Amino acid sequence: MKSEENTEKQKSVISSYFGCILLVLKHVLNVWGLYTTSFYENSQLSILYYLRAIAFCLWVLLSTCQFRTSFSDPGEVHQKSVPIKLQLVHEMYGRKCKKCNSWKPPRAHHCKRCNKCFFKMDHHCDWENNCIGAQNQKYFVLFLLYQLLYILTSLSIHTIGIYDYCMKSKRKILPMLMTITTTKCQILSILLFSFFFIVFVSQMLWDQISAIRDNQTVVESRQGKFGRQQSFMNNFKQVFGDQAWYHWLLPTKPILKINYAELVYSEELINQGTQYLEDVIYDETNPASIHFAEFMLDNYAKQK
Ligand SMILES: [Zn+2]
Ligand SMILES: [Zn+2]
Repeated sequence: MKSEENTEKQKSVISSYFGCILLVLKHVLNVWGLYTTSFYENSQLSILYYLRAIAFCLWVLLSTCQFRTSFSDPGEVHQKSVPIKLQLVHEMYGRKCKKCNSWKPPRAHHCKRCNKCFFKMDHHCDWENNCIGAQNQKYFVLFLLYQLLYILTSLSIHTIGIYDYCMKSKRKILPMLMTITTTKCQILSILLFSFFFIVFVSQMLWDQISAIRDNQTVVESRQGKFGRQQSFMNNFKQVFGDQAWYHWLLPTKPILKINYAELVYSEELINQGTQYLEDVIYDETNPASIHFAEFMLDNYAKQK
């Protein structure tokens, strides 16, 4: 048992080193990308000047979002025992994580890499060296958005810069690119990286938008379960916070209503369209709450 624990700890340490390397690599690539946009400084085109200013702003935003994604708490579950009210429906709410030795709410999952339980854990991201969960998903989605816009802006700068250079020097693009110089090697490499990351980042961003739309984490999608189905705006506010709209675009801390009583449902149950269980149980002003909980208990007692 102890050797198993040691192997898991070793794996966790190795993955954390691997994550740190990826984190630094991503940062170096972004700074290098920013540096290569300075190759067209001699161009007289004013659009290149504006695009470089935009690229710099996007780089600041994406770096801040990345920092907050990597170093914020994804939503660690601190509660050691099941809240008394929820104990009434213990079979649904009484899950316990054997590794953390604490209560595991229905939408919490244990990450083997971080060795902690996180509320609405989506996935463990090697590029961020952290888990993505309820409390840092906003930073992660914003990071993907700004990263994509940054790559597209850099690509536009290179495309316009190369075209402008060829027009002025009356040289054709392909033969010009074929003559090897350090600058051209750097431009070609950055273009290759850009195309790769456009596909990669767009796919991840789309996955995140779909996850918010469906109120479903990656872990839940593997289990075929969903959170309660509500409007996109309500789901969006659960991730980005119920605040003024400009906060949604900035890496500010989202004001979230964390409800550990939230449940996951199969598609079949959702299609039946009944009232959501967590509402009935969690509503302290609703006198039906206790009756409902008692009814649930009776029901379970009869099943046994
Ligand atoms: Zn756990
Ligand atoms: Zn993790």
